[in-house]
This record gives sequence, structure tokens and C-alpha cells, in this order.
Amino acid sequence: MTSQNPVFIPGPTNIPEVLRKAVDMPTIDHRSPVFGRILHPALEGVKKVLKTTQGQVFVFPSTGTGGWETAITNTLSPGDKVLATRNGMFSHRWIDMCQRHGLDVQVVTQEWGEGVPADRFEEILTADKAHEIKVVLATHNETATGVRSDIAAVRRALDNARHPALLFVDGVSSIACYDFRMDEWGVDIAVTGSQKGFMLPPGLAIVGFSPKAMAAVETAKLPRTFFDIRDMAKGYAANGYPYTPPVGLLNGLNMACDMLLDEGLENVFARHHRIAEGVRKAVAAWGMQLCAKRPELYSDSVSAIRTPEGFDANKIVSHALNAYGVAFGTGLGDVAGKVFRIGHLGSLTDVMALSGIATAEMVMADLGLPVTLGSGVAAAQDHYRQSATAMRAAA
Ligand SMILES: *Cc1c(COP(=O)(O)O)cnc(C)c1O
Repeated sequence: MTSQNPVFIPGPTNIPEVLRKAVDMPTIDHRSPVFGRILHPALEGVKKVLKTTQGQVFVFPSTGTGGWETAITNTLSPGDKVLATRNGMFSHRWIDMCQRHGLDVQVVTQEWGEGVPADRFEEILTADKAHEIKVVLATHNETATGVRSDIAAVRRALDNARHPALLFVDGVSSIACYDFRMDEWGVDIAVTGSQKGFMLPPGLAIVGFSPKAMAAVETAKLPRTFFDIRDMAKGYAANGYPYTPPVGLLNGLNMACDMLLDEGLENVFARHHRIAEGVRKAVAAWGMQLCAKRPELYSDSVSAIRTPEGFDANKIVSHALNAYGVAFGTGLGDVAGKVFRIGHLGSLTDVMALSGIATAEMVMADLGLPVTLGSGVAAAQDHYRQSATAMRAAA
């Protein structure tokens, strides 16, 4: 694969040149004040991206999966009850992690392509008079199916049920891509990683804890060492880590937050929406359907596209790589072989998106699918031209 081509996998995402340079640092003494001048601005930047003033941010050398583990091991005890939905591979894996930690997970199974069922959650929470459910888990953007769930609606479900459970949100593929409001939505723990909306290499788990989640840490009995946020908080107070920090990645995180905030979060979200709409116009022009069932579920960071019955969707991904050196995402779990995914998150422009759409057309034509070359590209071009004009008019 030529490294000149953008990738269209839903993470890791394309890394802007300035961030590659920011990550590439000579060794510094991580116990010197220099490190504090990288660490603290990075933590403050993440808080702004999460839209929290009340929360505390912790960054571990890990990935999003380590962020899940940070959330549950710091706040829960063996046997605690957790409410969650399984609607794709990532929500499935978070549930699996909870079960392996000896938690009692009440799973609401949804068809893949559906979102988190806030109304069903409200019924379950209302019926839980003894408040046995300690945490509600929600995957904001199910990356396997390209489904975005309504986190504000999950918060309303908790509030309507007058239920005190904590709300944990996996925002690994939504945060810094589309709107996320930690304080306003009453999110108690927000989880993400460095390699998606933050446009960095993999290697950081990024988690935000609300004051209520911080309070739960004091009574939680699950074992934790590496991910203990109390050790991490002590480290931060002394400008350090409880172990060796990944200084280059943190320097990159600081720079990534600056980039996002300089562009303006609302502009970052508008860009993701605009690019995603172009991809969706192309999919419609191809006569194909998304895995996500309804427009309000469409993700602005990834599209999972259903291929015709009997066709192995993985062939699209392997042929794109072999013939054109372009990476798309495969289908995972229940939708393996049935969908391929176009990731459109992170550092991306409409011009880059057009190259991905054009490549997908070449690949599908090569494989004998009934796609007219240029049809999706033209539909996306129309959208990008119109929306560019509208943006200029608004500016
Ligand atoms: C990528 C992803 C993860 C897993 O993150 P890793 O960094 O691979 O551990 C978790 N949840 C969602 C929604 C994701 O997209």
C-alpha cells in the first residue's frame, strides 16, 4: 500500500503532518517541569473538546479499550449490575469486558444497525426500584455499523426514571468528530483514544470523570493498578505520571487539541457532517443501503455500506488494498462479509473523500457489481459544490 494515499478505515485515521512532527520528540526528563508544560495544557485541551468544566481528564498509555477498563475498574465492585445494549462489535466488546470483570450485565440486544434504545432503558430503570443498576453503558458511535446513538436521550431516560446510576459513554469514534457534551448530557465517564478524532497515532486512552464518578472511586472494589486514577491524579499533581509517560504522544495531544480548537469544534463537526453527507449521496447513487436503519442514526464518522446478498463484502476491502493501495474497513462480527466501511473521520477534506469514493467505484466495478463509474463521485461533487457555496455565503 502506498503511504501517499489517505486511509478510509474508521481509525487509526490520517495523521496531519504537524501532529506527526509534534509526536516525534527527543527524550526529555519526564520528571522535569518541562513535562508539566506539555501535560497540563493537553489535559485542559481535552476538557474543552469533551465540553466539560466540572470533569477531570486522565490520559493513560493504552488505547480506547484501556479507557473502558479504566472506567469500570475505578468505579465498580464485583457483582455490580450494569445496563448495556449490544448493537455492534464495540458495544459487544465492552459488555464482554464487564463480564470478564465479574460484573452482572443486563444486555438489551438490538439488531445491528439500530441504536441505543433510550425508551427501553427508561422502562428497565423505572422498574429497578431498588437501584441495583450501578452503571448504564452507551456506545455513542457504533463503529462497526456506522450508527450514532442519542446520548441526551439516554440521560433523559435516567432522569425520567429518577435513577442514580452512572452514565458511561464510549465516545472513541465520536469525540472530536461530532458533538459531544459531557457536562450537559450528564456523562459520568467519557472514553476515547488518540487515534480517531484526535488524529494521532494509537497509544493513548483518554477518559473524562465527572465529580460523581470520582466519588464512586472511593468505594469501588475491582482490582486496579496500572489504571488506578488515584495514582494518576497524584502523578499529575507533581507534574508527572506514576510510571513513564508517553511524552511524544502527549505533546501531540496538546497540539491536536490546539488544532481542533483553532478550527473551532462546531466547524470540525460541520466538516465531518458535510463530508459524511457526500459519502451518503454517493452510496445512494450506487443504489446501495447503509447498515444504519434510519437517517437519525447515520454516523458522521463512518458509513457501513451493505453489499448485495451473496456477495462477499470483504473482497472490496482486499481488492482496494491490492489494486489501488487504499484501505477501507471490513465488516465485523454479525455483519462480517455483509458490509464494507468507509471511515470519514479525523483529518479529512472533501477532496480526500472524493478520492475514496472514486476508488470504491473502481473496486466495485472491477468486482462486477452494478456500479456506474462516476455516479457516486458526481453525487458527492454536487453536494460538496453546493455546500462549499453555502459556506462561502455564510462566511
Ligand atoms: C476503535 C474503537 C474502540 C477501541 O479502541 P482501541 O483504541 O482499538 O482499543 C472502542 N470503541 C469504539 C466505538 C471504537 O470505534
